[in-house]
Amino acid sequence: MTEGLLLVISGPSGVGKGTLCKALRQALPELGYSISATTRPPRPGEQNGVEYLFLSREDFAAKIEKDEFLEWALVYGNYYGTPRAPVERDLRRGKDVILEIDMQGARQIKERFPEGVFVYLLTPSLEEQRRRIEKRGTENTASILDRLGKVQEELKHINWYDYVIVNDKIAAGVDKLKSIITAEKSRVTRNRKWLDKLVKASKGEKN
Ligand code: 5GP
Repeated sequence: MTEGLLLVISGPSGVGKGTLCKALRQALPELGYSISATTRPPRPGEQNGVEYLFLSREDFAAKIEKDEFLEWALVYGNYYGTPRAPVERDLRRGKDVILEIDMQGARQIKERFPEGVFVYLLTPSLEEQRRRIEKRGTENTASILDRLGKVQEELKHINWYDYVIVNDKIAAGVDKLKSIITAEKSRVTRNRKWLDKLVKASKGEKN
């Protein structure tokens, strides 16, 4: 069986990563997704084990110690990490998996899974990004400025991503992600195993 595709989505705060990934998962219900662990406190309405696994700093540190994360990073003062076991299991079984993580984490994944597909999302403008963060209403002014400043820094390092999507209309964003998945899964290099079998079988027929 071909290994599943690992799709990594990053992008600045307020870009709508969560909304877009949720819409993609609705469009592709067979897509596996990773529930990250975090030390940040839950926001109103967030449930443990649904949006995140909410951990104490001690528990998070213990998991780092036991190498239970594929990647982890300190983001805006809180720790976030991708639990290793479910992702590795899904990929082994041929299931595609989506990770919605920050750039530091994506970089670590790129080192471990160079064959992963890395997508960076952008808002149409900085004003739009600010509007979206303010609308969400979860950040204070300093935190909003911090988050807006981060995008300029991140853009300097965007070159190792494979794709960039300006996330304006959700349906268009979902279409683009679906196209990326289709194209990537059609790569000859990702289909090597069964193509080799095909070549072998055709040789057998001739002999
Ligand atoms: P939020 O607290 O707003 O849900 O997420 C803050 C940031 O943490 C976002 O940029 C999000 O993509 C990132 N993030 C969420 N989960 C993970 C993770 O498992 N690893 C890393 N490195 N970043 C994550």
